[in-house]
Amino acid sequence: MTPLADLLIRRIVATGPITLADYMADCLLHPHHGYYATRDPFGAAGDFITAPEISQMFGELIGLSLAQSWLDQGQPTPFTLAELGPGRGTLMADLLRATRAVPGFHAAARLHLIEASAVLQARQAISLNSHPCRWLPNAQSLPDQPLFVVANEFFDALPIRQFTRDAQGWRETVIGVTAGRLTPGLSAAASLTTLHHRLSDTRPGDIVEICPAAPAIIAALSTRIAAHGGAALIIDYGCWGSHGDTFQALQAHTFTDPFAAPGHADLTAHVDFAALATAATTPHAFATQGDFLNRLGIVQRSARLAAQLGGTALDSHLAATHRLTDAAEMGTLFKVLSLHPASDRLHPE
Ligand code: SAH
Repeated sequence: MTPLADLLIRRIVATGPITLADYMADCLLHPHHGYYATRDPFGAAGDFITAPEISQMFGELIGLSLAQSWLDQGQPTPFTLAELGPGRGTLMADLLRATRAVPGFHAAARLHLIEASAVLQARQAISLNSHPCRWLPNAQSLPDQPLFVVANEFFDALPIRQFTRDAQGWRETVIGVTAGRLTPGLSAAASLTTLHHRLSDTRPGDIVEICPAAPAIIAALSTRIAAHGGAALIIDYGCWGSHGDTFQALQAHTFTDPFAAPGHADLTAHVDFAALATAATTPHAFATQGDFLNRLGIVQRSARLAAQLGGTALDSHLAATHRLTDAAEMGTLFKVLSLHPASDRLHPE
């Protein structure tokens, strides 16, 4: 049994079952036993691999897209360049390298990273190679100024609550202890005003998930973008709306039982982009990752890089391009939600 399992079992036995959100929060970010708090989980030797770790093109294209948006908005100076949950800092390093040639962009940028894990903050500092940067605990503490921000696979790591509809109301997934083991179960049915709008598109037996922390984060980003200009690119797996059980655990690139080894597996849920868009006070746009990268010119960028490669390096570069964009790989499952200012801010004099 993991030390965190022991701790959770003792707590549940003493005070009763906990919600999935409380379980996820401890599994991911418990200061001593949390998954992100204790390790660097990325890459082939880790538990999962993300788009920036698959290819440098991902961070490059996102960087140039944000820089173009900054140019379109009249080069506001200074501005916040931010990332939520930067992992190893690979995306930001690629973004900074690709935007070096955009005149004035680096001089105007004040880099802020929102990262809860001290282990990953240290890893990010290495990737940024002494580029000046501030780490913040949450999006709410970002400065009140123009904001150009990216979040890749950040929202899927935020704790969710899960509810099953029945004839009497909604029953929440809670974690209890049975025969000395952590066991999921359902609470008694309750009528919930927060899920009233889901009565029209669900039936008894259906499952819906909500991410309680997400709306405040989106509000923090969108109020800054609405007031001062900027753009947000939020990339993740998920869809428009929440339908069904998407809570999952990944360890060594394999799906595992999320309750078997708390603190040792990555726990995530699909992102409900409709819930994010509803929390935004700015206009938004929505696309699949494949369409987004194709429109930004990944085919051309990939060809330029391919021209310098041969042998296995070329093979893996072509496989990476395919993996990021193909509908059968990440191209359709992953989506991009962008937040941008009202159109009168887009083309200033
Ligand atoms: N964007 C990176 C990493 C994705 S993993 C990539 O694409 O490779 C999720 C990241 O979010 C990790 O860096 C994790 O430590 C961070 N994170 C998770 N929950 C967080 C929270 N509540 N506040 C701040 N950072 C968080």
